[in-house]
Amino acid sequence: MEADLRALIRDIPDFPEPGIVFKDITPLLGDGNAFRRVIDTFVERYRPSAPTQIAGIEARGFMFAAPVAFALDAGLVPIRKPGKLPSDVEKEIYELEYGTDILEVHKDAVREGDKVLVLDDVLATGGTAAAACRLLRRLGAEVLAVAVLVELEFLGGRDRLPDVEVLSLVTYDGS
Ligand code: AMP
Repeated sequence: MEADLRALIRDIPDFPEPGIVFKDITPLLGDGNAFRRVIDTFVERYRPSAPTQIAGIEARGFMFAAPVAFALDAGLVPIRKPGKLPSDVEKEIYELEYGTDILEVHKDAVREGDKVLVLDDVLATGGTAAAACRLLRRLGAEVLAVAVLVELEFLGGRDRLPDVEVLSLVTYDGS
């Protein structure tokens, strides 16, 4: 399956800025059969863990989190860029290669006892996913796993997530 999915992810050099090779997943999203296989894989893998909430990281994480939440009869938790969520938020500031970034979640989005699966499209340095995990744990939730479509292995994202299961469906080793 990995080769089929990989064929539907295209490299866009120098986007959104020079030196970055952007993994464009829109050809995969546009292929109904491939998209279904991705969602089914996440759903079957995590059904036994019975997550109560699926957290999607803005924005492409939402595209995976919503169908997985629906299929597992779980809630959907948007983890968003700053200033987007209207009610009381918990905030996490994290380091980027140059500068910092912020993620926010509603304080009442999860509670003690919730078991949360975190979904995103790409795991790169892992800073974003690690910040999402810290946010959810601070609110008392248990993070079951971080699951992504694409892992850029050579950026070492897993090292930033030593205390949580990481699942990726397509990996790139940088060669
Ligand atoms: P990071 O915090 O470095 O793991 O970056 C992960 C976040 O940035 C994810 O939300 C991705 O959507 C996005 N991202 C990082 N690098 C790429 C890339 N090469 N192609 C597409 N999205 C990326």
